[in-house]
Amino acid sequence: MEFSKKIKGLEESITLAITAKAKLLKEQGINVISFSAGEPDFDTPKKVKEAAINAINAGCGKYTPVSGTTDVLKAICTKLKRDNNLNYEPSEVIANVGAKHSLFNAIQALVDDGDEVIIPAPYWVTYPEQVKYSGGVPVFVEPKNDFKITADELKAAITPKTKLFILNNPSNPSGALYSKDELMALAKVLEGTNIVVLADEMYEKLVYDGKFVAFASLSDDAFNRTVTINGLSKCAAMPGYRFGYSASKNKELNKMMKNLQGQCTSNICSIVQAAAIPALIGEIDSDIEMMKSEFKARRDKAFEMLNNINGLKISSKPDGAFYLFVDCKDIENDDVKFCAKLLDEKQVACVPGSGFGMKGYFRISYATSMQNIENGINKIAEFVKGYK
Ligand code: PMP
Ligand code: GLU
Repeated sequence: MEFSKKIKGLEESITLAITAKAKLLKEQGINVISFSAGEPDFDTPKKVKEAAINAINAGCGKYTPVSGTTDVLKAICTKLKRDNNLNYEPSEVIANVGAKHSLFNAIQALVDDGDEVIIPAPYWVTYPEQVKYSGGVPVFVEPKNDFKITADELKAAITPKTKLFILNNPSNPSGALYSKDELMALAKVLEGTNIVVLADEMYEKLVYDGKFVAFASLSDDAFNRTVTINGLSKCAAMPGYRFGYSASKNKELNKMMKNLQGQCTSNICSIVQAAAIPALIGEIDSDIEMMKSEFKARRDKAFEMLNNINGLKISSKPDGAFYLFVDCKDIENDDVKFCAKLLDEKQVACVPGSGFGMKGYFRISYATSMQNIENGINKIAEFVKGYK
């Protein structure tokens, strides 16, 4: 069989691959501590489960409109108004099979062969792959400070071919959160250009210090050029449900994305659409608060323990998401080797930084129990101490 050039150029998702490997080792009875999974360890909130069960019992098993039921689209608009003060109509939002799917639709709809897409590093593994798949060229920018791209760095990366700028705030894998002033400076650079912003705000509700500001809320200009991407996998602890969404003021873009979805997946699962509603309209806010305070305590613990290990460095305590991006260059520049040895010798799974575009780093997800954090980081300390 001869495969398409496009598919041959696509890399496996390293985050999913390592998470699956750690799960498999556990199933084989090996006591692996996994810091690889980018998913909450908490169970899905009760109101979400009940909404799913009620939807099944009410016979919701028919096709829905491609972009979602009126109820779920209205719920997305309610969320965007309530949390971000953004005014969208139901026709301007689309429910997708996770935010990964929302990103895919937007990138496929916008990026042609040779178009450039600016991606600050470290970046979430999926962005460059989706860009390449659409024929585009990822343009990576490694920020000088705190993993956050500055206005000057953005300006220097723009060329006549720049089509998109992907901004993930708070960031996976660094946890960095942009302040309003930092975002405003970036928005100013884009004024007068045709560059579209893909604002991936998946970790919006997992912010421990500082305040989250949605990119589309910065100005009318930002509102009109931004496609907001969000979902419920992280903040609502429902990654397996697969619910994400996009929001854009651009009618043609929404039509293109709906056409693509109508020819690929049709509507997303009708049960999931019903289950998403309580999570979107604020009925699980107390569950989110509980998870957030637990994540904060874990972040503090993990940050303190890792910083006490001679040879490892974390530039500053991240404000959001549930990851720490650790510099291991003083011990080993080959992060793939470092992570493979760590799994082999100490049964601790982490994701190598090169998957996120930065060699000499590894990512820890602290979406696991405090006990795992303590035991796992103690094992990392022993590993680093005896590293050969
Ligand atoms: N964006 C970021 C930054 C992520 O970390 C993830 C994690 N999977 C996603 C998007 C996609 O999430 P999902 O498809 O589960 O909604
Ligand atoms: N986003 C999560 C992570 O970075 C889940 C895995 C994935 O979808 O890549 O680990």
